[in-house]
Amino acid sequence: MTQVYIALGANLESPRQQLDEAVIALSALAEDAEVQVSPYYRSAPMGDVEQPDYINAVACLTTQLAPIELLDALQTIELQQGRVRNVRWGARTLDLDLLLYGDEQLSLPRLTVPHYGMKQRSFVLVPLSDLAPQLILPCGTPISALIDDNLRAEVQQLGADH
Ligand code: ATP
Ligand code: CA
Ligand code: CA
Repeated sequence: MTQVYIALGANLESPRQQLDEAVIALSALAEDAEVQVSPYYRSAPMGDVEQPDYINAVACLTTQLAPIELLDALQTIELQQGRVRNVRWGARTLDLDLLLYGDEQLSLPRLTVPHYGMKQRSFVLVPLSDLAPQLILPCGTPISALIDDNLRAEVQQLGADH
């Protein structure tokens, strides 16, 4: 059984609802169907593609799935929710990135864990630290050392009525 953290992002077709649905789908992968979810945040898109703002969150669950099985399951959920792959960092109904798989560091053709961008991305770090403020990353860095007020100001927390 391994504790995993997953980043959720959406910016098309009722993004908040996409995240709500994704959380339900994630619960099917979890031991006892239990998923912890951070508050939802609004963030500006990365890169140069003109597109709507994103809604982001982080989920935590405990699973029996092996890392690649989990990636397959995440990609299946993306497809079930209408994800179409076109340009890099372009708009999407749902993106599910595997941030952390226990303390493991994996470098497989289809899967790099921890996720390569997580230490630079406010829309990942802020909700991750909401869920796990004491977290130490596999590299030994405490999440608290990666968060400051400037980073927090890059994302806007949405109300509890999401
Ligand atoms: P980014 O990876 O910069 O956040 P993205 O999420 O838009 O960009 P995708 O098109 O969703 O990128 O994913 C591209 C590929 O990344 C996937 O097909 C998957 O095999 C691979 N990948 C590698 N590591 C991970 C990970 N930790 N979580 C999810 N996908 C990963
Ligand atoms: Ca991503
Ligand atoms: Ca992705």
